[in-house]
Amino acid sequence: MRSVLNGCISIKTLSEIEQELTGCRRCALSETRTTIVFGVGNPDAEVMFIGEAPGKQEDLGAEPFIGAAGKYLNTLLARAGLKREEIYIANVLKCRPPENRDPRPDEVEVCTPFLREQVRAINPEILVTLGNYATRFILKTDSGITSLRGRVHITGRFSVLPIFHPAAAIYDRAKEPIMETDFELLGRLIAQRRKERATRGDV
Ligand code: SF4
Repeated sequence: MRSVLNGCISIKTLSEIEQELTGCRRCALSETRTTIVFGVGNPDAEVMFIGEAPGKQEDLGAEPFIGAAGKYLNTLLARAGLKREEIYIANVLKCRPPENRDPRPDEVEVCTPFLREQVRAINPEILVTLGNYATRFILKTDSGITSLRGRVHITGRFSVLPIFHPAAAIYDRAKEPIMETDFELLGRLIAQRRKERATRGDV
């Protein structure tokens, strides 16, 4: 697995990255979107969540995870001892695919340099990848979320925890206990990383 931070590093601020995305027409999603959904949250977040792409509500509201999946995510965060304002959240694609279809490889290719820049700017300790697209992009794997969830993966300097996309659990209620288990694992991972930092004296 390769780190998303491999290669030449020139760290931009979140506002510089957002500025570069203004009016982006690098792929055909620009023709059907309402707004570019950049990302939102704590710019110094310890935990960064990465989803797939904006849905209808997000496209209208210009913010990730504000629809039904976002409300569910907020309840799950509590299981990890997190509040929404503590985390940063962004998507693989910044524009909504029509009818919420799956992202296409060419769209992922042209849009993900901006996600990489966001990860560099925030420099989180833990990446939570929600669903297949975010997980495959961050872990550089073709494996699916079902086989990767439930354990921590190390890539570069990041601890990566793949979790089902909350929308998947809304459509398939059998996934709810799995989601709860995985967010509890996230809570333990955060506690472990904090303890390690305290031991090193870099709080
Ligand atoms: S999805 Fe990404 S690359 Fe495509 S138009 Fe939107 S911001 Fe630009």
